[in-house]
Amino acid sequence: MATNLQSDSGTVYIAGAGMAGLAAAVACVQRGFKVSLFEAAKHAGGRCRSFEDSVLERVIDNGNHLILSGNTNIKRYLDSIDAIDNFKPVDPVRFEFVDLDADISWSLTPSAGRIPWWALLPGKRIPGTSLGDYLAMGSLKSAGDQAIGDLIDPTQPIFERFWQPLCRAVLNTDAQEGSAASIWTMLSQTLLQGRAASCPMLAKDGLSAALVDPAVEYLTKHNAAPQYATRLRAIECSGERVHSITLNDQEIELGPQDRLIIALPPHELSTLLPDIPVPTATRAIVNVHFRLEDPPNLPNHAPFVGLIGSTAQWLFKRGDVFSVTISAADELAEKLSEEIAAIVWQEIAKVIGRDGGTIPPVRVIKEQRATIAQTPEQNRRRPDSSTNWQNLYLAGDWTNTGLPATIEGAVYSGQKAAELLEK
Ligand SMILES: Cc1cc2nc3c(=O)[nH]c(=O)nc-3n(C[C@H](O)[C@H](O)[C@H](O)COP(=O)(O)OP(=O)(O)OC[C@H]3O[C@@H](n4cnc5c(N)ncnc54)[C@H](O)[C@@H]3O)c2cc1C
Repeated sequence: MATNLQSDSGTVYIAGAGMAGLAAAVACVQRGFKVSLFEAAKHAGGRCRSFEDSVLERVIDNGNHLILSGNTNIKRYLDSIDAIDNFKPVDPVRFEFVDLDADISWSLTPSAGRIPWWALLPGKRIPGTSLGDYLAMGSLKSAGDQAIGDLIDPTQPIFERFWQPLCRAVLNTDAQEGSAASIWTMLSQTLLQGRAASCPMLAKDGLSAALVDPAVEYLTKHNAAPQYATRLRAIECSGERVHSITLNDQEIELGPQDRLIIALPPHELSTLLPDIPVPTATRAIVNVHFRLEDPPNLPNHAPFVGLIGSTAQWLFKRGDVFSVTISAADELAEKLSEEIAAIVWQEIAKVIGRDGGTIPPVRVIKEQRATIAQTPEQNRRRPDSSTNWQNLYLAGDWTNTGLPATIEGAVYSGQKAAELLEK
């Protein structure tokens, strides 16, 4: 419930209507602030959005996004905008994997409680792993500034069959260099809490319908509709305050009670305020979407499977659209889309029993700067929400949230910036 707008608490200007900006705007409205949200693109959602694809003739997401039931900040956001029912929990809670190199498959079923009993039973473990491999997970708890590759032996099967898919999915960074502390945070909030916090939540009708449109509707209802095609072009600071901002060609002077939340990607902030250090390295994600006639089932009727020993890393099925995600994909993203589609189709055709030679209608989406590289070094460059300027706050998945750069992190960053505002 939004409280009454406080006319004397000024306007909160919010730049960027991605997940961080939307979450900040919703939280500000709930706290009773007057909000002015503006976005350079003609739509909200940023890196998390759906669109009508002309080749596939389907609404597809820019990339498969997986969230888990333990993502409590997303849940808080969805509750605020009455959108929790837009997600479907995967039932039963199980993660399917296929190793295309070794031609074997397995399932991981989280235990009900916090103790992963399945790790004690050789038949339930990931093939080729031992109990010691799972006990070694504890070393991440006090990892500090180390990478996964510093703590886990990369020659052991568990590295390629568990740590690598996990790190790529969560950090968009290879396990050799991915931050152990960031992975530990994610594990301790989800998989290590047991089944109730480990359940994959799938957007029933795509990302925009689930996460973006209901927020825009909520904001519109509360006089805070995003203004599209409105780019933040300049910020003028004087002393300890932001004095004015330029939106497209219009300069707006900030009053004594006005605040600015910047929820833009790090390279955008750098061009506006080069004095704030930001992460500089990014990683690409490539998604390949195929539309299939007579869509087959994935192994065990799962909605998605993890793939090992292949270029393709995760395969999702949504109706007749089969979508492959490849994270930490900078090298692959340099190839031609046709080449990528051919490589990936050959691989997944084996998993779903189709002819690898005939490529069905396909759309390849390369997100070159999908997220920051989540290495210990880049994590040290993530700035806090508060800045040296009293009326300027930062949000975005790449800010110092203590969480990986994911939707959960983006939403939390927006909520956190809103909570820092004094009335
Ligand atoms: C392909 C892909 C797959 C992913 N998979 C997952 C996943 O499985 N699970 C998960 O949790 N996360 C995933 N993520 C990460 C997730 O999408 C991001 O963490 C999240 O969307 C970031 O939101 P944000 O608001 O911080 O940034 P953005 O979405 O980048 O929002 C910034 C907004 O600012 C706007 N903007 C830029 N410059 C200006 C300007 N000067 N003035 C005004 N507006 C401006 C942009 O247009 C954009 O809308 C994935 C990301 C990608 C790309």
